[in-house]
Amino acid sequence: MRKHTLLALLIIALTQTAFARVELDEQTSVRFATRDQATQILGAKDGFARALGSFDRSARLQATENVSTAQVLDFMSRQARSFTDDEKSRVTELLASIRRRLRELGWDLPLPRQVLLVKASSRLENGFPHCRQNAIILPNSTAGLRNPDLKLIIIHELFHILTIAAPDLQERLYAVVGFKPCPGVSFPKQLTERKVTNPDAFGVNYCAELEYQGRPIHATPILLSPTATYDPSRDIPFIEYARVRFLVVEKEGEKWACRYKDGSPMVLKRSEVSGYLDKVGRNTGYIIHPEEVLAQNFMFIVRGREEFRTPEIPAEMTKVLRQCSKEGTKKEARAVFRLPGQTSPRQQWVDSTSVAVPTGILRLPTAKLTGPGAPLRGRTPAASPQSRS
Ligand SMILES: [Zn+2]
Repeated sequence: MRKHTLLALLIIALTQTAFARVELDEQTSVRFATRDQATQILGAKDGFARALGSFDRSARLQATENVSTAQVLDFMSRQARSFTDDEKSRVTELLASIRRRLRELGWDLPLPRQVLLVKASSRLENGFPHCRQNAIILPNSTAGLRNPDLKLIIIHELFHILTIAAPDLQERLYAVVGFKPCPGVSFPKQLTERKVTNPDAFGVNYCAELEYQGRPIHATPILLSPTATYDPSRDIPFIEYARVRFLVVEKEGEKWACRYKDGSPMVLKRSEVSGYLDKVGRNTGYIIHPEEVLAQNFMFIVRGREEFRTPEIPAEMTKVLRQCSKEGTKKEARAVFRLPGQTSPRQQWVDSTSVAVPTGILRLPTAKLTGPGAPLRGRTPAASPQSRS
């Protein structure tokens, strides 16, 4: 009897060791966060938490009243869950397949040394997968962990982890879709009460030259709710409130700032701006932000899709990624969550709570966009990433 118990314990220990870590390449491993670790990650006051506006916070708790950052973090941390062995086994297989594909592509991407996988309840972020620094958050929903296309989702999320870890590479990739850094811009206070924040692209630090009324302008896409208050009686996910808008920015000397008109920050609708699709291309309908456009194209490249409506984007991205692999830019990796007892040899890594970095997933089922690449209304993009092309 005792022998059997010991054997059972040994099997459990071996299984847990087998699942503890999956090597994605020679320098990057993926780990499953325990529930306690997940609680810490989801409750961390990181750049995303600090970027939340009042609508953001109330809507996540489905509340009409004002909600503090501490309350929203408490809510998010309580959505932490543990992976089952079956889930770990499935994800491990998917990661092995991604690893094979990355090898095939000959890439040595500057991913952080450690990527974490966090399981959460389907109440988190409307059940949509997203990232928190070097952690991929997979809600237990049909859009997340239970998605048949989970492999594609992980590839998409890995892109966000990559750009967070390697800001220089991020800049080169954003240039592929016509975006350049605009340091100094901060989200205007007048708009924060209607702000809808994408955990994967919450910064306003890249802009593109577009056209408004026949004149060139610089602008950056943001998400705004039409109302400052979340209405629980309507019983719709808060993501349904998000509308894509363009925040106009301009350079003042060496610094960038928002442009104001009659005392208000200048915000344009998609229909008022031209040139955006020419930049972000037509390979995906998920074009709420350059970060998401690039993540989708990255996913297509890794998946091995061959036909594109805008082939220049994946071709150029491949060139940049190949180049950075040769340069060995892994040393750039920064801003990561570290699990207790794990130290990184990269001294420049800093504690997650002290860094505000741009990240990049909020999959908007109803991004209010028109044009050939627009997602179909009502479709949950995360449910079928490849169908968004
Ligand atoms: Zn994304």
